[in-house]
Amino acid sequence: MNRYIVVIDDSPTIRVSVEMALKQMGLPIVQAENGQDALDKISKIKGDGDDVAICISDINMPVMNGLEFIAEFRKVDKFAPVVVLTTEAEKDMIQKGKEAGASGWIIKPFQAEDLLNVVKRFVK
Ligand SMILES: [Mg+2]
Repeated sequence: MNRYIVVIDDSPTIRVSVEMALKQMGLPIVQAENGQDALDKISKIKGDGDDVAICISDINMPVMNGLEFIAEFRKVDKFAPVVVLTTEAEKDMIQKGKEAGASGWIIKPFQAEDLLNVVKRFVK
């Protein structure tokens, strides 16, 4: 069984930098450009008998934002951690994210090492 890291952000630049930061976790990484895209990809992952190790999700995205994503994701996965990527200006989103079921957060712009350390705390 594979355990996937799911990286959700509408910015391709952010997705690539998150993926690079987390490469050394040694887990397969799937990128999604919004919450709905992530749910579709997670549904395929679980349908294949695999699992989600952790989601790293932006808040502001078209189609389905990060808060909506977390609420929907919690219906199909109660336990996999979700780390929210948020900007300083969206700091009030941290509380909303927690209420929706987020496990932690990273303030953008982030250092690769900080992101890696947060993820390591959640994924053993
Ligand atoms: Mg965004």
